[in-house]
Amino acid sequence: MHRLIAKQIAQATEAAGHVDIDKLAALVGSTYEAFDRDRSAELMVRERDLQAQNDRFDIAINNMTQGLLLFDAESRLIVCNRSYIAMYGLSPEIVKSGIALRDIIAHRRESGAFNGDVDEYCAALSRSLLQGRTSHHQTETPDGRTIMIVNKPVAGGGWVATHEDVTERRRAEARIRHLAHYDALTDLPNRALFHERLREELGSIAPNRQLAVLYIDVDEFKSVNDTLGHQAGDQLLQSVATNLRRVARPNEFIARLGGDEFAIMQTSINDQAETAGLVRRVFEAIRTPFECLGHQVTSDASVGVAMAPRHGTGLDQILKNADLAMYAAKAAGRRTSRFFEPAMDARVKARRMLEMDMRQALIDGAFEVYYQPCVSLENNRITGCEALARWRHPERGMISPADFIPVAEETGLINELGEWVLNAACKDAMTWPGEFKLAVNVSPVQFKSGTLALKIAAALAASGLPARRLELEITEAVLIRDDEAALATLHQLRALGVRIALDDFGTGYSSLSYLQRFPFDKIKIDRCFVNDLATQGGSSIVQAVVNIAAARHMMTLAEGVETAEQRESLRALGCTEMQGFLFSKPVPAADILPLLRSDPRKAVA
Ligand code: C2E
Ligand code: MG
Ligand code: MG
Repeated sequence: MHRLIAKQIAQATEAAGHVDIDKLAALVGSTYEAFDRDRSAELMVRERDLQAQNDRFDIAINNMTQGLLLFDAESRLIVCNRSYIAMYGLSPEIVKSGIALRDIIAHRRESGAFNGDVDEYCAALSRSLLQGRTSHHQTETPDGRTIMIVNKPVAGGGWVATHEDVTERRRAEARIRHLAHYDALTDLPNRALFHERLREELGSIAPNRQLAVLYIDVDEFKSVNDTLGHQAGDQLLQSVATNLRRVARPNEFIARLGGDEFAIMQTSINDQAETAGLVRRVFEAIRTPFECLGHQVTSDASVGVAMAPRHGTGLDQILKNADLAMYAAKAAGRRTSRFFEPAMDARVKARRMLEMDMRQALIDGAFEVYYQPCVSLENNRITGCEALARWRHPERGMISPADFIPVAEETGLINELGEWVLNAACKDAMTWPGEFKLAVNVSPVQFKSGTLALKIAAALAASGLPARRLELEITEAVLIRDDEAALATLHQLRALGVRIALDDFGTGYSSLSYLQRFPFDKIKIDRCFVNDLATQGGSSIVQAVVNIAAARHMMTLAEGVETAEQRESLRALGCTEMQGFLFSKPVPAADILPLLRSDPRKAVA
C-alpha cells in the first residue's frame, strides 16, 4: 500500500518536476479511497464465498446418513451433524461446538444412549488417539439398533468420529448366515449344519457313551406330492418337521437333509435302548395323521440307524452306514427301521457289481427273451405270448428279472434293455405262424423318457410287425407318477394302433379310478388273487374286476395259473384269458415255435 502510494508520488513528481502538496494530498486521498473500495469489495466477495462454502458444507454433513463429529486437540467439539443428534436422541442445545467430549458422553448417558462408564470410555479413546490409532467399535442403542463407531485422528491434533447405523446390514448378514445353515421350508438345521455338529460330536464322544445317527426317509412323500400336488407335499414335510421337533429331547439334534430325508443325531447314549426309544418316538411322530388341503394324510417312514463308535467314528463312514441301514429298511418293505450291520455293505457292493455286469451284458448280448403263452379260457387256444427278459450270467447262471429289473430301473439301464427286448421280441414274433399277439413289458422309467412312442414305432417299422399284434404291459406306477404326461403318451401309443394292458392289477395302489382314466384293452389280474381264489374274499375280488372290465369292454387275463381248479374257477367267474405254469412256463424263442405251430389257432393266418 505504502509502496503503491510512494510510487504514485514518484510518478507525480517526475511528471510535474516538483512536489505540489495539494495535488499530492488529493492524489493520496484518491488512492486511499480507491484502495478502500477495492478492499471492501474483495472482502465481501471472500465472505460470500466463505458463506457459500459453509452452506454447502452444512448441507453435505447434515444430509449424511452417518453421524459425524470433529474434535480439536483439546477434545472439544468443532462440528457435529444432525444425524448424530437424531441417532441417539440428544439435545442440539447441549451438543454444540465447544462442548467437551466427556460432556457429550455424559449427556448420552443421561438420555439412555450410553450405558458404559463415561470416564473409562473417554480415557480409552484418548489413549488410542494418542497412539495415532483409528479405533472401531460397535454399540447398541436402547431401541435395539446397532451403531458402528470409528474414531480417526487428524493431522494437527483432534479427530473425526463417524457413527453408522449398521442394524439392517447386520440383520441381513445374520439372515444369510441362517439361510446357509437352516432349511427354508421347515426351518430345521440343514445338511451342512448337521455335518458340522456331527463332526464336532464324533470328536468328543465320552468313554462308555455312544452316539446315534438316524436317517429318516418319508415313505409317503412321493405319492402325496404326485397325487395331491407340491403344496400338499410341502405341508407334509412341514408337519413331519413339527412332529419330530415335538418328540425330540435336548440331546437329539434334528435336521432336514433335503427332499424327504431327515436325520437325527442322538448324543450321550448309555444304552442302545435309548436309541430304540427314539426310533419309536420318530415313528409315532411321523404316523400322526394331519390335515392337508382338506385331506387327512398319513405318512410313514423308513429309518436307518448307525451307532458311533461301534459302526465307525469318521463322519463319512457313520453317514454312509446310516444310509445303508435306511436302504435296508426300504428294501424290507418300508415302514420299518434297521440298525446298521456289516452285511448291508456287502449287499450294496453286490448290487453295484450287478449294475456293472449288466452294462457289460448289454454290450455282450447276454440277455435273452423268453415267451410265455397266454391262453383263451373260452376255447383253450393260445392268443399270444408275453416276452420276458432273461439274463444268462457267465458265472452266476440265469438271473431272475425280479432281481435285475429293479436295478436296471434305478440306474436308467432299463431304457436300453427295454428297447433291446422290444426289438428282439418284434423280430421273433414275425417268425410266428398266424396272428398271435406279442405282449411286451414297459417300465415306468421308459415312460418318463418321452420318446417311448417313437421307439415303439421304430421297432414296428424295423420288424414289419403290424401294430395290432403288439400289446404293451404297463403298471399302475406309470399313472401314479406323472398323470397328464403319462396319459398323453398312452394316447400316442394307442394312435399307433398298439394295444395297452394294465399289468399286475391289484398289487399297487389299485385305484379303480385308473380304469376310468384310460380305456385299457386288457387287465392282467395279479397272481396273488389267483392264489387266493379258493378263499371267499379272493374270488369276490376277481369277480369285481371281471365285472368292471366287462362293463368297459376290457379283457381280463389271470396271471400265475398253476392248477386246473384255478383255471375252472376263473372260467366260471368270466375271466377271458389265463397265463401260467399250468399251460406253459416261459420258454426260449426256439421252444415257443412248436407250441404255436401245434395250436389250432395258427389257422387264423
Ligand atoms: P410280469 O410282467 O407280471 O410277468 C409275469 C411273471 O410271472 C413272470 O416272471 C413269469 O415267469 C411269472 N409266472 C408266469 N406264470 C407263473 C406261474 O404259474 N407261477 C408263478 N409263480 N409265476 C409265474 P418273470 O419272468 O420272473 O418276470 C418278473 C417280472 O419282471 C415281470 O412280471 C415283469 O414285471 C418284469 N419283467 C420281465 N421282463 C421284463 C422286461 O423286458 N421289461 C420290463 N420292464 N419288465 C420285465
Ligand atoms: Mg407282464
Ligand atoms: Mg404281471
